[in-house]
Amino acid sequence: MEKENKKKGQVMNIINKLSVVISVYNEEAVLDKMYQAVVPVVESLPCEYELLFVNDGSKDASPAILDRLAMESEKVKVIHFSRNYGHEAAMIAGIDYSTGDGVICMDADLQHPVECIPQILDAFHQGYEVVSMVRMSNKSAGLFKNITSKLFYKILNGISETHFEENASDFFAVTKRPAEVLRKHFRESSRFLRAYVQSIGFRKTTIEYTAGERAGGRSKYSLRNLFKFSVKAMISYSDLPLKIASLCGTSAGIASVLLIIYSIYMKIHVGAPGGYTTIIVVICFMFTVLFFLLGIIGEYLSVILGEIRRRPIYLVRDTVNLEKEQEKENE
Ligand code: UDP
Ligand code: MG
Repeated sequence: MEKENKKKGQVMNIINKLSVVISVYNEEAVLDKMYQAVVPVVESLPCEYELLFVNDGSKDASPAILDRLAMESEKVKVIHFSRNYGHEAAMIAGIDYSTGDGVICMDADLQHPVECIPQILDAFHQGYEVVSMVRMSNKSAGLFKNITSKLFYKILNGISETHFEENASDFFAVTKRPAEVLRKHFRESSRFLRAYVQSIGFRKTTIEYTAGERAGGRSKYSLRNLFKFSVKAMISYSDLPLKIASLCGTSAGIASVLLIIYSIYMKIHVGAPGGYTTIIVVICFMFTVLFFLLGIIGEYLSVILGEIRRRPIYLVRDTVNLEKEQEKENE
């Protein structure tokens, strides 16, 4: 359980050790630069630290560089994945293996400024447990990426119940308790960590930062990846796509009834070729039934999805005067 100091009704987190999780995929060009930039910052902090590098199946010299850094300092910890599992998996592994009272996830390419680390620690000290780093401008992303990212958040916020911070990045920090929650509960195979971090509650704050240029190497996120990501997020956090079938069913039903009435009216008053009215009525009726059934299946699917996600029904931030065992049973 997180250590907290309750002074004058104010809650503050005590951070004895900070874990910095850095995901690495083919980053040989920037790793040394990153290490040299981050060490003076973490050394100046009034607490212990560990640098947790997660090598996400790099095929270049990154693993060797990381091993060398780990040889030089025991504060450097390295997790080598067996293959490339993706950025999200790397961050989750980092959180899993972290031993600090606070965990910061950041990229290896220095686009997430290491100078923000003391600010994050301050936020922890002020009692915040989830710190989302919000990108002010992304110089290297280009107009297209910036516009599509804006549009994505507009749609996602429109169709889901959780509010997602626009421009929230994979740069975030959590204290021990939310880290535990992420570790335990948010392990769906189709994950969207950035969204989970924002949806778990706790005392949250945001800090703005300016994303710089990549310190070297190339971006590993292709447009195709980003598209896959967006679809995943929407499916994870909204049932609307499933409900579209019900909506179609209802509209098609109303349209069919109108068309049936119109066709019968025309048949009686104007006359129609033999069989025409019957065909129209049968087709309309069948389509209405079909959409209606699809709608029902959609509704069931949305319930089943909710169940198999096994997300917690509630999350406890802290308890007072409760036995630990009792507390655990809730989860
Ligand atoms: N990354 C990773 N696994 C991957 C792709 C990327 O661990 O499969 C890491 C990468 O090394 C970097 C971070 O995730 O530290 C962000 O990737 P990148 O800078 O390429 O993305 P961008 O900043 O262009 O969105
Ligand atoms: Mg980057």
